[in-house]
Amino acid sequence: MMAADGKKVWMDGRLVDFADAKVHVLNHTLHYGVGVFEGIRAYATADGPAVFRLPEHVRRLFASAKVYHLPIPWSEEEVARAIVETVAANGHIPAYIRPLVYRGEPALGVKNSAGKVSLAIASIPAKKYLGEGSEKGVRAKISPFRKPPSDAMPSYAKACGNYLTSYLAGLDAQQDGYDEAILLDTNGYVAEGTGENLFLVRGGVVYTPGLESDILLGITRDSVVTIATDLGYSVVPKLVSVNELLTADEGFFSGTYAELAPLRTVGRHAIGTAVPGPVTRAVMEVFSKAVRGEDPRYAAWLTRVPGLRAAAATPVRAARRSG
Ligand code: PMP
Repeated sequence: MMAADGKKVWMDGRLVDFADAKVHVLNHTLHYGVGVFEGIRAYATADGPAVFRLPEHVRRLFASAKVYHLPIPWSEEEVARAIVETVAANGHIPAYIRPLVYRGEPALGVKNSAGKVSLAIASIPAKKYLGEGSEKGVRAKISPFRKPPSDAMPSYAKACGNYLTSYLAGLDAQQDGYDEAILLDTNGYVAEGTGENLFLVRGGVVYTPGLESDILLGITRDSVVTIATDLGYSVVPKLVSVNELLTADEGFFSGTYAELAPLRTVGRHAIGTAVPGPVTRAVMEVFSKAVRGEDPRYAAWLTRVPGLRAAAATPVRAARRSG
């Protein structure tokens, strides 16, 4: 996926050198998966670097932490400021930002919920997740691994342990030569990818699985719903059968790291005819303008990163100017 490298990591209020961002091997989160995290992107814009939908990500981090009894000892505003500070300290744009809430002190015993709750924030160079799939279309397979039901593993919390299923499904798909896995819920309805939500288009209507299929309520999913609605499409969250997916006119993934990626095939089935299809293309175009601050309708989705010079951080713009 990505080489995790950066200059500084924010740890409990201090920016430490990347190599020194360490915790004890007997920490509770490492052993039991009880931690919560976020994946956030910062993009280059004409007004300098900006974090996409920062308050929404911070809000979800706090909501996830609450589910797992991890009281974060900072306010949402303080965490948002710390994220901006970490992006500025590292200087990579586009950036992938990873805040993690964890118990880092040595503490064995699964019911142990007394340990200190810590927050670490890393900001590393962002790359394309699904590689060529982002443009040419993703080749996905239906995973043999299903989403655990939310009464076993709440899907609405972005918790470390939830990714055991994503790991198994993702590796299985990769070993079978696919780009990505599509996981079904325990009832056999389409849920989501390993780190993406899923949309399909039939007869000009956009459909997406809902919380009843044990998905993470993605912030990119929410952006897609807004953009597609603004483009005049009906967007309907519903239970999606495998049959509906395989016979859709179009399909695409949405996620912070994957951004928007059209679905080319599911197993041996081609999705629609052209990749990306017309609705997917229209939504992708607006989304890519929104994240770069080129669509004033979505300006409120961007939080500026002061102190990072736009010229140093935006090689794409610089290249365009000189070319
Ligand atoms: N589902 C899962 C399981 C995920 O890990 C992610 C990535 N956070 C998503 C969906 C997409 O969420 P978002 O758009 O907020 O990144």
